[in-house]
Amino acid sequence: MNEFAIINSFFKSQAISTKEVLLGIGDDAACLDIPSGYHLLVSTDTLVSDVHFLASWDAYIIAWKSIMVNVSDIIAMGGEPRWLSLALTIPSYNESWLARFSQGFHEALAQYNICLIGGDTTAGPLSVTITIQGIVPKGRAIQRNGASPGDRIWLSGEIGGAAQAVAFLNSSTPKEEDLSVLMQKLQFPVPRRDLISVLQRYATAAIDISDGLGADLNHICQASNLGANLFLDAIPIHPLVKKYQLKEALSFALAGGDDYELCFTTSANQDGEILNVLKAEPLACFPIGFMEAKPGLRGTSSDGSVRELIPQGYSHF
Ligand code: ADP
Ligand code: MG
Repeated sequence: MNEFAIINSFFKSQAISTKEVLLGIGDDAACLDIPSGYHLLVSTDTLVSDVHFLASWDAYIIAWKSIMVNVSDIIAMGGEPRWLSLALTIPSYNESWLARFSQGFHEALAQYNICLIGGDTTAGPLSVTITIQGIVPKGRAIQRNGASPGDRIWLSGEIGGAAQAVAFLNSSTPKEEDLSVLMQKLQFPVPRRDLISVLQRYATAAIDISDGLGADLNHICQASNLGANLFLDAIPIHPLVKKYQLKEALSFALAGGDDYELCFTTSANQDGEILNVLKAEPLACFPIGFMEAKPGLRGTSSDGSVRELIPQGYSHF
């Protein structure tokens, strides 16, 4: 089996296409017709074996997660994912592995109506690199640098679950049903497509939480030249993190990545309107703090005391 046969049987044959894809898989480059009135968003994420996933995982899951983490980046910019290319490195030709991988890959793409438009196929240590493209109305990309002092900080859902699953990969085993709930969080993150219109209407800055709320919110702080103050009791922590981390649950959840929830800021005078919109949808989003002119990350407890938080998160180096 040479690489062209792999591309044809596992990728090209099942790729969906739209009229915007003037040229897809098979030429030296893909050619896309960007709808007028939109800007192009481009993002790349690599998933490396035994860093971002275990080589022993079902290849369906590896493919699924690789797509979702990339989709999440486009959504965090307020955009709509549209096209992607796949640079796949595999140790050797393994038909059943490739069949599972491509099944997960194409099912994940179909869920978002994303076209696979190209890639690269090489032999080497297992890794998956995806470059995704999305579109956003011109001038409406939501950046990290748009927050202002006093802006409300929102979190789109519970955090810490995926990190708790990672913690259990190499330590004592929890209850079987707890582990499966947590593994679902780690392996099947759900990009928050349901929040795109709220982001588009209200967000002044946004980020998806891949490295941990502390580290990722700190990116908004630094880009916006501000600080943040979190209501520590308002941060939604996954119940199983509370169960297994006890008193450490908050710091564990702040430093835990891989949840792919969104953290975004909005102008404080829009609180009422946003709460109404969230209620009407209905969408759960948690107001967890506010931006401040003073740099750094702080947390306010229910008794009103304020303490500095260290913006820890996952770092490769
Ligand atoms: P080139 O020799 O021009 O670099 P390649 O031999 O790498 O082209 O790839 C041939 C075609 O197949 C290209 O259009 C490329 O984008 C596409 N392709 C390669 N690998 C993949 C893959 N894993 N998934 C989808 N398309 C791929
Ligand atoms: Mg090539």
